[in-house]
Amino acid sequence: MWAYVFDKKGSIVEKELDKPYIDEHEDDDRYAAILKPLAVSPCSSDVHTVYAGNGPRRDNLVLGHEGIAEVVETGSLVKDFKAGDRVIVSAVMPDEEDGTGHEYSNFSGTKLGRNINGMWAEFFKVPKADMNLVHLPEELDIRKGLMAADVMPTGFTAAIKAEIEDGQTVCVIGAGAIGLMAIAAAKKLGAGKVIVVGSASRKESIELSRHFGADVFIAYQDGSVIFGSYDESMDVYRDKRSPLANALNKPEVDRILNMTENKGVDRVLICGGGRAAVAEACDIVKYGTGIVVSVEYQEGQEMIGLPVFSLGRGMAGKTFKFSLSLGGRHIVEKMLSYEDIEAERLVTHCFKGRDKIPEALELMNKKGRGLIKIMVEL
Ligand code: ZN
Repeated sequence: MWAYVFDKKGSIVEKELDKPYIDEHEDDDRYAAILKPLAVSPCSSDVHTVYAGNGPRRDNLVLGHEGIAEVVETGSLVKDFKAGDRVIVSAVMPDEEDGTGHEYSNFSGTKLGRNINGMWAEFFKVPKADMNLVHLPEELDIRKGLMAADVMPTGFTAAIKAEIEDGQTVCVIGAGAIGLMAIAAAKKLGAGKVIVVGSASRKESIELSRHFGADVFIAYQDGSVIFGSYDESMDVYRDKRSPLANALNKPEVDRILNMTENKGVDRVLICGGGRAAVAEACDIVKYGTGIVVSVEYQEGQEMIGLPVFSLGRGMAGKTFKFSLSLGGRHIVEKMLSYEDIEAERLVTHCFKGRDKIPEALELMNKKGRGLIKIMVEL
């Protein structure tokens, strides 16, 4: 069968590999399924793996973890799926039915394209099919189905773990696909006001932030308010605080502290912004009750630093959580129940044919103009 494998840092190549199969003598295989991908979406974690990592950890690792597929064959103990079913494959595969169980070792929940072969191939195998597959509703836009595999659950994970209370002010850092879903999730889970920090030069992000419910969009470049109201009389709060309150002297931190009368926001969801976002979040989250959740992938090896001043010299009462996405069938099904969230709008580019996979990956790496997510139909 054809397969795209991670060849060396910065490149994937098409190879001929053996088709995966189910071995009924293997206990695990009796719960597994073989699938044929119908549409896939190269994602920024694939970009990290290929372009930023240390190269493949083993030979012929097939990449790809976001997709919808058709079931070809199932193990004898698979209950809810049969050959011919069209399904969404949960990108994160937990060990327990409630979507947990992958907390005990780092990245253990990201199986496809990491610990086991992914779906950029003619066929691929999914462990514990009943826990990781979801029937694709016939009437559902397949682009939304594709977004329900990874992007939506990741954005929701940030909001769920932040324990948002009704009416709270939530800041989302990063307005890419995950950030946009975190905006929608924060609103769904009761946020009163959502402030987004994103790039002034990415028009599609600005437009979609508004669409998914953001109230204010602040440009990280200069702190300007792209949409939403800002009262300049609030600038007076700048004079009332220590310069240490904005450790990295970031314009967006300045703006958010002004907006909140130096109190900060209730919750921060880090979905982009790199390493500095963690320090920034510490500066803008409330003392005593603030919660910061990061679902952002951190590159490199350096330590993440927190500013001592806004950490209250270690006594700020601010909570930080760093989380992998919740995964599995239940969370994906939950995403489909949010019929009003038009996640299909995240798909800004559509390609056809497997030979487009490398091009789509390259485009994700370059963050092409107007790009949020790509769908490659096979
Ligand atoms: Zn992904």
